[in-house]
Amino acid sequence: MEDLSIIIPIYNEEGNIRILFDRLKKVVSQLHVPAEYIFVNDGSSDQSIAIIKELSQQEPAVRYLDFSRNFGHQVAVTAGLDHAKGKAVVIIDADLQDPPELIADLFKKWKDGYEVVYAKRRAREGESFLKKFTAKTFYRTLKKITSINIPVDTGDFRLIDRKIVDVLKSMPEQQKFLRGQIPWIGFRQTFVEYDRDSRHAGKTGYTYKKMIRFALDGITSFSNWPLKFATLAGFAVSIFAFIMILYALYARFISREYVQGWTSLMLAVLFLGGVQLICIGIIGEYISRLSANVRNRPLYIINDSNIN
Ligand code: UDP
Ligand code: MG
Repeated sequence: MEDLSIIIPIYNEEGNIRILFDRLKKVVSQLHVPAEYIFVNDGSSDQSIAIIKELSQQEPAVRYLDFSRNFGHQVAVTAGLDHAKGKAVVIIDADLQDPPELIADLFKKWKDGYEVVYAKRRAREGESFLKKFTAKTFYRTLKKITSINIPVDTGDFRLIDRKIVDVLKSMPEQQKFLRGQIPWIGFRQTFVEYDRDSRHAGKTGYTYKKMIRFALDGITSFSNWPLKFATLAGFAVSIFAFIMILYALYARFISREYVQGWTSLMLAVLFLGGVQLICIGIIGEYISRLSANVRNRPLYIINDSNIN
């Protein structure tokens, strides 16, 4: 049984794997505990998997899972958690945006008795204004509309205890949003602060499309607020419509000025149409996730691995 497992999701990180591993190894050697490194290759199209396999032949502590295609970052981390054996598990990005040296601090807090030690970013280097702005707005909105305390400005870089890993493995939902699920689980949680570096090599694997999906997974998994919004919007529009009906009757039978009114008619039709489509869309987001969970397909498919 290893004491420490380190999970590294990999999507086109050929320029980062070796330098990351060297830095990880250095930190781990100072901790004096047996460790394993689990590289999860999430359908990379570059040389990543070849490099990982080569590394695994030189280093017995290196394990890998090779997916049959790209399943996404959260799923890659989940697969790593499923296969990790450590008493403490660290999740870290491969691009060196999360400094491996911080693991020593995370480990110390774990030794102090915390089950979750997350790394909170103080500053973010080398990311676009739009990315920082959308991330900031998203986490603050999410905090407002959920009842659990999701820490702001934290990614998945953190250390979690075996207890947490076992609970996570028993949570069967298809939409993984680990940074919400882990605070939801509870136990003693604390944080360590750090400055986030810019990516060492390569480019981000999080396209805006993936980011939007990730954000919607987070919201739908932890909040029914959008559904309540749909109901409220329905009521608000109905009240407005009722007043308009009274006015229409008044215009027809009392003031008898009813030929005009094209503008108000158009406004009402367009407004109602818009609200209805938004509400159907919101319901659709929940239903599509419900149906994914009913289908219950495997979360990922492994092509190759050296973990038995
Ligand atoms: N990643 C992954 N699958 C994906 C996208 C990203 O496994 O579909 C990995 C990636 O290799 C990295 C981590 O997830 O180790 C974070 O991704 P990235 O650095 O591209 O995201 P960003 O830091 O830009 O949000
Ligand atoms: Mg990154």
